[in-house]
Amino acid sequence: MSVIKVMDEILANKIAAGEVVEKCASVVKELVENSIDAGASEIKVLLIDSGTREIKVVDNGKGMDEADAVLSFSRHATSKIISEDDLYNLNTLGFRGEALASIAAVSRVDLKTCAKDVGTHVVIDGGKILEVSKGDARVGTIITVSELFYNTPARLKHMKSLYTELANITDYMNKLALSHPDIRFILQNNDNIILRTDGSGNLLKVIQSIYGNSVTRKMVPVKGENADYEISGYISLPEVHRSSRNNMITIVNGRVVRNSDINRTINEAYHSYKPDNRYPITVLNITVDPSVIDVNIHPTKMDIKFSKMDTLLELVSSLIINKISNRNLIPEVEVKKETQKTVERPKYIEQVIKLDLNESVIEDVPLPEEEVIVNDDIISDDEEYNSSTELMHEMYPVGLVHGTYIVLENENGMYLMDLHAAKERCNYERFKEAMGKPNIASTALLFPVTIELSSDDYIILKEHLNLFTDLKFKVEEFGINSIIVKEHPTWLPTNNLEDSIRTIIDVIIKEKEFSIEKFNEKVAMMMSCKHAVRANTHLTIEDIRDLVEDLRKCKNPFNCPHGRPTTIFYSNYDLEKLFKRSGFDMKK
Ligand code: ZN
Ligand code: ZN
Repeated sequence: MSVIKVMDEILANKIAAGEVVEKCASVVKELVENSIDAGASEIKVLLIDSGTREIKVVDNGKGMDEADAVLSFSRHATSKIISEDDLYNLNTLGFRGEALASIAAVSRVDLKTCAKDVGTHVVIDGGKILEVSKGDARVGTIITVSELFYNTPARLKHMKSLYTELANITDYMNKLALSHPDIRFILQNNDNIILRTDGSGNLLKVIQSIYGNSVTRKMVPVKGENADYEISGYISLPEVHRSSRNNMITIVNGRVVRNSDINRTINEAYHSYKPDNRYPITVLNITVDPSVIDVNIHPTKMDIKFSKMDTLLELVSSLIINKISNRNLIPEVEVKKETQKTVERPKYIEQVIKLDLNESVIEDVPLPEEEVIVNDDIISDDEEYNSSTELMHEMYPVGLVHGTYIVLENENGMYLMDLHAAKERCNYERFKEAMGKPNIASTALLFPVTIELSSDDYIILKEHLNLFTDLKFKVEEFGINSIIVKEHPTWLPTNNLEDSIRTIIDVIIKEKEFSIEKFNEKVAMMMSCKHAVRANTHLTIEDIRDLVEDLRKCKNPFNCPHGRPTTIFYSNYDLEKLFKRSGFDMKK
């Protein structure tokens, strides 16, 4: 090759690097996917300063001979370009082949690889091959990329903070581990191990290495299929949720993908079981004939489309709803487990009891976990509640705290119930049911209610008066910017009727565009909250008993319509732990 041609190639690689390599995570991605392609069963990613100083990937894959090793850095190393049909099959991860050349153009690369007992060592600096020599004979490949972008300082500046770079890499590696439970992964930054999986093929163990024990205990398996799709995986109980959508993970034929329709469906399946602005943790493995996948989507974007979307979404939704609507979902207060039972404790040191109430506050970026211990008792947790319509155990009110929390008991332990949330749930289900009936009854008002509006609100409202009629209000225009309400649906309580109507008007004006279902849902939620507000009436223990019985009859007695829990459980065991009655010798 002439000198000029080589220079051209280096330049081309530098330019291409701008597209392929924009952050450390994309370098990690290219290197690790090469390792997977090489059939590695163990892949270590060792970073120095989040990869900005060095990224080293060690695998036990099949390695390369000298010719391939050198060729892998050339711009047209096309051995990896594959047909589009292969794209979503198990063994191939995408089309690359030029990425390594691009990475080498903007860094220093040291490659040690070995195929068939012959080792090769290649050193490249800024795209120029400095050394090709015999190396050690060991299984697999060690590739070290250091000083990324050292020769393109402008790019270096664009690199995000060390924290962001590491978060991106961790996110990528977590997803890769979830889609390859059979590969043993280690991710280490400086001296900290961030991820370690055992390669046993057990998805729940991977979930545990990423999310920790307390989340893993609350993951339940799902499995199902229809004519086109097969789905298996784990979903979190509704009490476990995160602020980011990023933990709804969809794997299609072994590859992590993104699809907003699937995410929306998952999220909707949890509707009213969790707060709307929080998202569950789900790992769904979808197996499908590749011909159903639309491959016109650029594969590096991880986006994917299916030609039979409806049946997929139905399956996803039914799997989740079945799982979460059949369980006793009262969150149990987590009492910190004592590690050793019989160690003597210093007597007068204040023991702070740490209740792990703030499940939802846990950071989204997983913390490094040094030791991965899998308890067998978390592995299969699939007992189903035989739902005899009532999902919640019988429980007996003991009293009311601050007019807000009901204290209850039964043979299993103690419960705290949020009065407002409980009432709200009862109202919500009652209203929804009434609204869903084909002939909604309405009641004529002895004293019709007139409501005056601002002129702009009135204009919007006039366009949507049919929504009132659909809800079985009888509403007429009444002079300038006013309406008069003569009948109201019977389900709507008559106290504060004007207030209720104004709330519905607010929904109409705020939403502007909506489906009837969404509108009805919104009205039911607003009304249930409004009418759950405690009036200045004194609640007797009978009133409370009635409320608890009403709640137990609900389809989902565990959450208010906004997804907050109605009830929290302290088991007898938890109480004993909290008061140090168990685990020690407490005869005094
Ligand atoms: Zn409320
Ligand atoms: Zn609520």
